[in-house]
Amino acid sequence: MNLGEDLYREVILDHISQPRNRGPLECASHKHEGLNPVCGDQVEILLDIQGDTVAQARFQGTGCSISQASASMLAEQIQGLSVSAARDLAEHFKTFMKSRESEPPDGLGDLEALAGVRKYPVRIKCALLAWTTLLQALEETPNE
Ligand code: ZN
Repeated sequence: MNLGEDLYREVILDHISQPRNRGPLECASHKHEGLNPVCGDQVEILLDIQGDTVAQARFQGTGCSISQASASMLAEQIQGLSVSAARDLAEHFKTFMKSRESEPPDGLGDLEALAGVRKYPVRIKCALLAWTTLLQALEETPNE
């Protein structure tokens, strides 16, 4: 256990004990529920998209700590982004998680803390669940 891993663990534990933007979103224009049957994780992403901006982002769900911490990071980071920037972040994070060794690209923020998960292929699905669910939510036709 080196200092870097300790800091990463702190970040993950902080998101688990104090989830960001967790809860319902009555005015959601886009929402999607994702499941990871391998681990039993469930995450619902709820978005209020106004024009080209993610005005509000929320998540709800149950599952392992990695899946829920990643969803919390997602909801915190994409709120206020443009839709295309949110998509780019999701793609960058997916690419990062699927490469075993690479340094994190700029702009991942707290998501860097999930780097250690790459050593455990089964858990990568847990970390990516919220992000694949986000991309599916963005594909859906908005509720008017
Ligand atoms: Zn999981």
